[in-house]
Amino acid sequence: MSADLCELGVAEAAAKVAAGEISAAELFGAWREAAAGDELNAYLWRAQEAEPGSGPLGGVPVAVKDIFCTEGAPTTAGSRILEGYAPPYTSTAVQRLTEAGASVLGKTNMDEFAMGSSNENSAYGPVLNPWDRERVPGGSSGGSAAVVAGGLAPCAIGTDTGGSIRQPAALCGIVGLKPTYGAISRYGMIAFASSLDQCGPLTRDVTDAALLLAALQGRDPCDSTSVGIEGGVRAPSRGDLKGLRFAVPSELARDEIDAGVREVFEATLARIEELGGEIAEAPLPHAEHGISAYYVIAPAEASSNLARYDGVRYGQRAEGGDLVEMYESTRADGFGAEVKRRIMLGTYALSSGYYDAYYGRAQRVRTKIAADFDAAFAEFDFVVTPTSPSVAFRLGEKTADPLAMYMNDFFTVPMSLAGIPAISIPAGLAEPEGGGPRLPVGFQIAAPAFGEQPLLEAAYALEQAIGFEARPGGSGDG
Ligand code: GLN
Repeated sequence: MSADLCELGVAEAAAKVAAGEISAAELFGAWREAAAGDELNAYLWRAQEAEPGSGPLGGVPVAVKDIFCTEGAPTTAGSRILEGYAPPYTSTAVQRLTEAGASVLGKTNMDEFAMGSSNENSAYGPVLNPWDRERVPGGSSGGSAAVVAGGLAPCAIGTDTGGSIRQPAALCGIVGLKPTYGAISRYGMIAFASSLDQCGPLTRDVTDAALLLAALQGRDPCDSTSVGIEGGVRAPSRGDLKGLRFAVPSELARDEIDAGVREVFEATLARIEELGGEIAEAPLPHAEHGISAYYVIAPAEASSNLARYDGVRYGQRAEGGDLVEMYESTRADGFGAEVKRRIMLGTYALSSGYYDAYYGRAQRVRTKIAADFDAAFAEFDFVVTPTSPSVAFRLGEKTADPLAMYMNDFFTVPMSLAGIPAISIPAGLAEPEGGGPRLPVGFQIAAPAFGEQPLLEAAYALEQAIGFEARPGGSGDG
């Protein structure tokens, strides 16, 4: 029985609870049992008791990236420096989910302060990909992606600063949505790069993503950058793509994409045409500079945001020495290598004499990238790309080469810089370079700012046509 309950999607489970066919406690119990079997190192904390309410998500357990403050549960952001930190309040995103009736199932592992693309930067050890435990789940929301793909949670939330929802969703074969900047409140979501960070859902399908987004979005007086999505969000129902125009960036042709990923991407374009959509190339000439601009802007903002971790107010404190020594050793012991690298890069980029050359220039590139998208959306409804240039890579494969790791975000960073919504849906399976069992490939669709509803409608129509049924462990095929 409990295994069957875990087969239900978010919408179905909530409907059965609402109809009284199953109880919220039963549903939570089934998922608590599933979560207890975590062999992927995906959970950092698990709830023992449900606190379900009623509403559209009534009774549905949700896994929460450990970057969202949750009163009564530890919150580490994947860092040693926040070990033992017990937030005195709950983030608005989690609050909205519980107000819609959901119950927190656990807190998921992540790259430290959301910096990474493989989850190998977590101070609590890497998360394993449920499709192949020798491979990464992607990052930084790798724990949230792995629990949904691995059958350890029905749905999850994560954060995406440059791709951290979409890329792990792609590498784990699930749906990941990064909403428009400002769609969801960032209050209580531990800051990495404040002008880029957005919360979003990781789910089995597009309908579940819409359900979660409907609950999450909205203006929040505690976050002045939150505006919500006008008209709200509904479950999608579109059956075709007639009359819709999809742009494929012309620059894609010369970019490095694995052969298997390219094949799935092209097959998906053919499906779009079968559904009546039109496909054409469009230039996004500045998108290729996205990575360079992002890796100045994000570390610059991070260096400022992370200054608050000094041993005085939160988490860990190193003992001994005077005040300055205490600051220094707390930060030296508490932060991992990637976080330190970014604090140094960001501090340098913001320093007097270099500010204009690095930060100012990166901001100008950002504006150009946003203008490229504006120009594309004057003629097209959507821009499509592969989500990630490769399928899930091996643990350790890219840890020695930060630049190779950063290239994972090649296709996801431009949308983050432009602040526009983008979704990754599973589009098929491909063999990794060098051979091995086939792994999921994500297809990314981006829309104009606050175009979440049309985006979900198109993604839904395409999802139905693709019919991706594959699961980790080999049942079915995409
Ligand atoms: N992988 C990117 C980085 O390391 C994006 C991370 C994110 O979106 N949080 O910064």
